[in-house]
Amino acid sequence: MSGRFPVARARGTYAAQMRVGVFGGTFDPIHVGHLVAAVNARHAAQLDVVLLVVANQPWQKTGQRSITAARDRYHLVAAAVEGIDGLEASDLELRRGGNSYTVDTLTELRRLHPDDELFLVVGADVAAELDTWERVEDVAALATVVVVNRPGVPRPRLQAPWRVVDAGMPALDVSSTDLRARARDGRPLEFLVPDPAIRWIRTHRLYAEDR
Ligand code: ATP
Ligand code: MG
Repeated sequence: MSGRFPVARARGTYAAQMRVGVFGGTFDPIHVGHLVAAVNARHAAQLDVVLLVVANQPWQKTGQRSITAARDRYHLVAAAVEGIDGLEASDLELRRGGNSYTVDTLTELRRLHPDDELFLVVGADVAAELDTWERVEDVAALATVVVVNRPGVPRPRLQAPWRVVDAGMPALDVSSTDLRARARDGRPLEFLVPDPAIRWIRTHRLYAEDR
């Protein structure tokens, strides 16, 4: 398992110029909603690859609850996407360290691969908050936004300068918040979290403590 971006390019599977989806998240833990969102965003925007970019320090969430170590969250994502065509775990924000700002991630990807076309994949809840992000004008200039629906959240109408692709997916009312509670209570995670990620959670006793 390598987090070097992108494994697909290193394997020589894709052309020099790629359509790259950047799907950021805390992934605490990764679940079926994330995976179905990623593959449908990839399909809707015809992306070569979707990078599931694990936030090192999700600045909007710190202080609200204790967040699982970034390395563990990255391993959960890597285990979940292992062998799935077109999805890759990325540890770019872990290697950069500090607070995770999407604008820095997009800028770094642009610098590494100037010919790529970048797409930012977000659920409707995150799409509604984009205006609170750091250097949001730069984000809009660097990437086209691919919005997936999320149950209970109206899809916001993003105006120019945002460039938007709508991606549909079956409504999956699943969240990491609920899954952490399930794990803590000993309720089943099966089919909501991919099996390899469940194994990692159990082996490393993640979410066992009250948090
Ligand atoms: P938490 O409850 O801890 O906030 P989460 O389930 O919302 O976790 P995040 O890591 O916060 O997961 O979300 C990462 C991205 O995945 C966001 O863009 C979010 O909108 C999207 N996403 C998460 N769950 C779903 C879902 N069930 N359907 C569609 N998109 C989702
Ligand atoms: Mg969330």
